[in-house]
Amino acid sequence: MRHDCHYHPGEPAKWHCGECQMHYCSRCMPDANHRRQHALCPQCNRVMRYLGAATEAVPFWNRIGAFFRYPFHTDPMLVIAICTLVPLLITGNIVGLIVSLVLVLALLKYTYAVIRHTAEGHMKPPPLAVAFTGSGFDIVILQLLVFILMGALVGAAGMLGGPVLMLVMLALVVLALPASVMVLAMEHSVAAAVNPLNLAVLISRIGSRYFLLYGYLILLSVASGAAQEFAFNHFAPHLANILAGFLNSTFTLMLFHMLGYLLFQYQEELGFASDHQDQEKPGESQGRDRTRRFDADIDMNLKDGNYDRVESMLKESLKREPANACRLQQLHSLLTARDDRQELYRYHPRLLAMLADSNDGDTMAGLLATIESIQPGFKPDDPELTLRCAKVLYNRGQFKPALKLLQDFHKRFPGSECLPHAYLTMAQALANGLGQWEKATAFLSFVKKRCANHPLHEQIDVYLQQARNREPLKGPRASFNVE
Ligand SMILES: [Zn+2]
Ligand SMILES: [Zn+2]
Repeated sequence: MRHDCHYHPGEPAKWHCGECQMHYCSRCMPDANHRRQHALCPQCNRVMRYLGAATEAVPFWNRIGAFFRYPFHTDPMLVIAICTLVPLLITGNIVGLIVSLVLVLALLKYTYAVIRHTAEGHMKPPPLAVAFTGSGFDIVILQLLVFILMGALVGAAGMLGGPVLMLVMLALVVLALPASVMVLAMEHSVAAAVNPLNLAVLISRIGSRYFLLYGYLILLSVASGAAQEFAFNHFAPHLANILAGFLNSTFTLMLFHMLGYLLFQYQEELGFASDHQDQEKPGESQGRDRTRRFDADIDMNLKDGNYDRVESMLKESLKREPANACRLQQLHSLLTARDDRQELYRYHPRLLAMLADSNDGDTMAGLLATIESIQPGFKPDDPELTLRCAKVLYNRGQFKPALKLLQDFHKRFPGSECLPHAYLTMAQALANGLGQWEKATAFLSFVKKRCANHPLHEQIDVYLQQARNREPLKGPRASFNVE
């Protein structure tokens, strides 16, 4: 049964808290340790159950193309080539016979490794070495034993109940064969692979999909047989043998990859959890995880409607990092959505600075209007911030709010270094924005008269000339002289 995340409908859940009966997706659990399959519930802090990647696995019938491509990777192709071609080069003495036998065993071992490898979440074939090293060659003997036991079962049914019972038994055995191969590959135990209870449980858990899989397996076998027959009909016997060997191995790999994928897809039902292994992200630092945990907590609390909680979380975090733009932005959105004008006013110096940094003149104009509604005639009391905000507003075409901010600048901040630039911005807003050239000229003249020592002073005449000509106030042509 596939569960969705409680907070992100449509997003498959990866964690389940038995205490709270809640499902969480990866986005909700950025601090989870996927490799160790360990995460604590954000609500009750208890260890949660890992659901694995099965919840987000593509159903096997939607990735048929990937199954066909599977054998065509370097490692499986090399394994097939070695195991098919080397026996042809060896003469028929006893050593050659043994080598050929070992190679057959290696190929089969590799094939069974594909099931396990896939079930553990690897969508790329296992490395070449798997075929020739380590233990696990016994799998071939075990499979042989399974076949013998199954054959005996069918034979016994025939002896006890006649041909009808034998056919029924044969049908059952054939039907259970893929399940038996899956169990054998995972558990390496003949007893488990022939235990009817085991097989019935596996098949019933997978449900009707098992029969769909069965259909695909039959199709693949038919295709493989047809391709091999084509080879025998159209090529010299020697070449046809090689080709048939290749085709047989390739189709078997596809088939076994499909069996492994079914285990991967139904891991939750089958009682184990594994993850996609091929796209692992490098471990991220603890600090980054903590901010992502914080973001996820904010998101959950917002969705639960705990706005007070979110607000206090943000304020708490801003105590530690007063200039964190992301938190300021979140606080601004929250306060605006709640229409909490008092708090917007209280945080206005930092909010305005954040909006100035992000060049968001439109939002800034909105914030200023909101503050104005509870503090008529409001103006910031920092000259530098005032100028920065005015410039951002001017650049976004918010001329009136810009002019308002700069009003009486020389009275509010006498002797401020920012004065020439403030009145230049004022003049530009008046002239370029509102077409009020006379007023603009008055501010420029003010700067010319009062700020004789400022670097801007020598450009003022250019601006004044532009104002006289009713041209946009752009200042002198850009030059590359360093001031
Ligand atoms: Zn989620
Ligand atoms: Zn919980």
